[in-house]
Amino acid sequence: MEKEGSKEIYQNNSVKITVDKEWCKACGICLEFCPQKVLAADEGGKPYPVNLSACTRCGLCELRCPDFAITVEGVEGKKDV
Ligand code: SF4
Ligand code: SF4
Repeated sequence: MEKEGSKEIYQNNSVKITVDKEWCKACGICLEFCPQKVLAADEGGKPYPVNLSACTRCGLCELRCPDFAITVEGVEGKKDV
């Protein structure tokens, strides 16, 4: 996991999930909506991926987050391993 200011970045060979810990209000919506159960809550209730390889990049977490605190991007030019 990398940090960029208040953002925490989780990445594998196909997906990059960025959580802005400052913007996140720990509402838990992204956890509830993730169909793959990729996300879990940390001790502060904020999401982090426990199962990043299961992420299908469906974008629901990003779409449902009321605070624009989570983003999902594909990692270009790389393939799943
Ligand atoms: S993009 Fe979809 S599968 Fe990936 S963490 Fe978000 S809701 Fe879950
Ligand atoms: S939906 Fe957004 S604000 Fe709510 S826990 Fe997830 S990232 Fe944080």
